[in-house]
Amino acid sequence: MVKLAIRAKQCTFACFLGINMEIPAQLRQLLRFPQNVAILSHRNPDGDAIGSSLALKHFLEMYGHQIHVIFPSEFPKEFEALPGASDILIWDAETESCKQVLLQKNLFFFLDFNALNRIDKLGDFVRDLPGIRVMIDHHLYPEETVDYMFSEPAASSTCEMIYQFIESLGDADKISEQIGMCIYTGIVTDTGSFRHATNPNIFRITAHLIDNGLKDTQVQDMVFNSNEEKNLRLLGHCLANRMEYWPEFRTAMIWLSKKDYEIFNIQRGDTEGIVNYLLSIREVKLAAFIHNQPTVVKLSLRSKGNLDVQAICKKHFNGGGHKNAAGAYSHSSLKETIEKFKSILPAYKSELTDM
Ligand code: 5GP
Ligand code: MN
Repeated sequence: MVKLAIRAKQCTFACFLGINMEIPAQLRQLLRFPQNVAILSHRNPDGDAIGSSLALKHFLEMYGHQIHVIFPSEFPKEFEALPGASDILIWDAETESCKQVLLQKNLFFFLDFNALNRIDKLGDFVRDLPGIRVMIDHHLYPEETVDYMFSEPAASSTCEMIYQFIESLGDADKISEQIGMCIYTGIVTDTGSFRHATNPNIFRITAHLIDNGLKDTQVQDMVFNSNEEKNLRLLGHCLANRMEYWPEFRTAMIWLSKKDYEIFNIQRGDTEGIVNYLLSIREVKLAAFIHNQPTVVKLSLRSKGNLDVQAICKKHFNGGGHKNAAGAYSHSSLKETIEKFKSILPAYKSELTDM
């Protein structure tokens, strides 16, 4: 099979001004006839992973494709309200049925992740299967092992790219209220409700989605007013007892131990967004959330402006992500990971304090 990597134009904002994504004729042709399609996204799926997967599913179903969406692990409860969410298969929970489904597939979409190792064992299984692979993603440095790659690190979200993908196929008029709800979910979650990673295109897209029936405030309500009491108690604990601030490095950190996980009965998704509170301190340029999940220590870094946390995660912790939002896993202890994080700050002092 000839491997063809199509890299969407590296961004200037010009590529968002209505210029179509280049979709190769062979792929257009393939999509014209019903295929057996798997849509996969990353572990601990967020609003963009779920929104992009379901939007693409609803769109492709209009052409008679047989679709399954498969995630490595469960998604947060607030997204259960998205149309089609109840049909999503979870690899960790039903590995055998996922394998049976995947064996039938001839077309794979990889959404919102840039390398098969980001989906662990699901990636190992899919790696050896026959079939055409299409990646649509906005993370930096994608693995070029797919047949068709749409990579746009300057896109706000994979959902924005799904909109462009549909538009480039000439089908913008097919974007229903249902598809709009899914696309808007990813745009809203990946931009923190239009606060970062924005560009002119997402405002145009949003206007079009609202014209087509999207109830935008309902989605914002679904995403942001989804806490339980325990989430606010946990947030209070993080801010009161687990926050450190180093003004000389314009850096703040929140950490959580295994014990905290037990005491607050922290489940998947419960810690989402906590790191962002640190960025609300005016002087803070770098925010870290370092937490001892049941089996591994996870780092989430966020930054303001030009500070590239993707590069920091990659260089020191073997992780990755985006310039202003990146993450990594550490197999050292929580204490060692925090110490290591603190120890690298002096090397970034000039970047951190230069505004
Ligand atoms: P979060 O901190 O919310 O888990 O992740 C922020 C961003 O960094 C996301 O886009 C996520 O995909 C990416 N990311 C998180 N952890 C890792 C990791 O271990 N490796 C890589 N390559 N990217 C990560
Ligand atoms: Mn994303």
